[in-house]
Amino acid sequence: MVEVQQPVPVPVLSRSAHDRIAHRRTDAHWLEAAWQSASSLVLVLSAAAEARSASGTMLDLLHPAEVDVDGDRILLGEAEGRVYFAVLAYTETGTTSLPGNWRGLRELAVQLGDLDVGLLTTAVALQHWHQRHTHCPRCGTVTELAQAGWTRVCPHDGSEHFPRTDPAVIMLITDGQDRCLLARSPLWPEGRMSVLAGFVEAGESAEAAVAREVGEEVGISVGDIRYVASQPHPFPSSLMLGYTAHATGDPTLQPDHDEIAEAGWFTRDEVRAARDWGDERGEEGSQEGSGAQGMLRALPPTMSIARQLIDSWIASG
Ligand SMILES: [Zn+2]
Repeated sequence: MVEVQQPVPVPVLSRSAHDRIAHRRTDAHWLEAAWQSASSLVLVLSAAAEARSASGTMLDLLHPAEVDVDGDRILLGEAEGRVYFAVLAYTETGTTSLPGNWRGLRELAVQLGDLDVGLLTTAVALQHWHQRHTHCPRCGTVTELAQAGWTRVCPHDGSEHFPRTDPAVIMLITDGQDRCLLARSPLWPEGRMSVLAGFVEAGESAEAAVAREVGEEVGISVGDIRYVASQPHPFPSSLMLGYTAHATGDPTLQPDHDEIAEAGWFTRDEVRAARDWGDERGEEGSQEGSGAQGMLRALPPTMSIARQLIDSWIASG
């Protein structure tokens, strides 16, 4: 297990407790022996990237001999002497014979322990990649799974393809009056707001993407851009890079009305009140409301790095 220095608290989906044992991915004899071992466990993932969990707090894993699902076999890794595989089902009907409560990563993330959330996040990321990268990008031939699920190889030209991770930046911006910038996407219900985010473009640094996205979305300049933490966001293939930055120049917000419907500067007290209001009502509650508390009534869910950036800022005041 590689120890990673992390800020406290570690983002929900960045938690992990297994060793990825990459050197075993090409060891066919070891892989087969591990699959035959009574101690090994298997995470079956449906074609919709859902896993079985009756309790909602831990994954219901199977022994390899119990797995009768048509899908790709993936080596996830090892923890405390036990080997973990995933089987990624090909079709929606491929897992209907398996009873249980099927739940998605977003639903399970906060309640799962470090080992389970790390296994599931990895399996979901691989499921989404395999489903979307079935053909060789060079010649169009159907590719074949290799290295225990960690590459796809083109049988025509021999090219190797690795699971994609698309970097995105997400940033908490503050102003000279110690307020933070929150904005609402036109896709969200009124009252729900979050920090700004956007994809890193080709040939661009993450810091440059922070400054560009803020300029494009709300028309202000930022400086003092500092990296905070990252979190995998396998929906389908992002890595969220969390930053803080400070507004420079004129802080007047000019939402682009394309990606941003409205934006504002909020004090810690206002943000804290919205967090408590929204959390009491949950995801669905945030979609109602009388508007009594204005444009900010709810924050993003606890599992998001957006929420962690906001919570850290509230706590730092
Ligand atoms: Zn090819």
